[in-house]
Amino acid sequence: MTLVDHHCHLDFPDFASELDAVVARAEAAGVQYITTISTRIAKHDTYRGIAERYSNVFFSVGTHPHQAHEELDVPLSAIITKTQHPKCVAVGEAGLDYFYQKSPREAQAQGFRLHIAAARETGLPLEIHTRDADDDTIAILEDEMGKGAFKAVLHCFTGGQKLADRAVALGLYISASGVITYKKNEDLRAIFKTVPLDRLLVETDAPYLGPGPQRGKRNEPAFVAVTAATLAEIKGLSQDALALATTENFFRLYSKAVR
Ligand SMILES: [Zn+2]
Ligand SMILES: [Zn+2]
Repeated sequence: MTLVDHHCHLDFPDFASELDAVVARAEAAGVQYITTISTRIAKHDTYRGIAERYSNVFFSVGTHPHQAHEELDVPLSAIITKTQHPKCVAVGEAGLDYFYQKSPREAQAQGFRLHIAAARETGLPLEIHTRDADDDTIAILEDEMGKGAFKAVLHCFTGGQKLADRAVALGLYISASGVITYKKNEDLRAIFKTVPLDRLLVETDAPYLGPGPQRGKRNEPAFVAVTAATLAEIKGLSQDALALATTENFFRLYSKAVR
């Protein structure tokens, strides 16, 4: 069985002392490929360094919505240049977070649109972070898609049915994190049931969001297997079939990632 954790944060201090072991445990759990996701363009060298250290780790370029206001002066051309590294397979994470709202909404929207432009120009998928911002996310996605197609995934999806439906209609992918394993999230599981199998991805968003029994503890890429098992149950599939489908989806969407 091969799984992919397309969204985690290996640069976080939580992993510093044992990154080799974290990557090795992922491989032992069948998690053969990992993408470590950027939250600050200023830390580009750190992400690139991690991806260069491990043959099966890719990275992205982008600014998290929490920091959107800090990096609006980075020009589109600079983002595009940074994506040219052979192991840079995605743009983001960028988007809208109205739950924490650490950055002004206008700055988040501007950053979101800038990253969409980078995804459109490079052909790389955009890792979209959206929380408590369904309507504005839909509005920006539909407006920007009208200007020219781009590829994207709604990472760690916690939105409503309408956002899921509109995203699928726009050709986007939808990713399940450990949040789908939490008991009270019956509605979220019902939404994942409606998402076409060929649009689904799995992720950890580690070190956050430990799935199932790991809830509240430090998460790591190996645990994406727990989320994948829950998603398999939701979709009425074997764990092998779910792993195969989500891994194929990853390589279709992240077409620059080499096996
Ligand atoms: Zn995120
Ligand atoms: Zn993240």
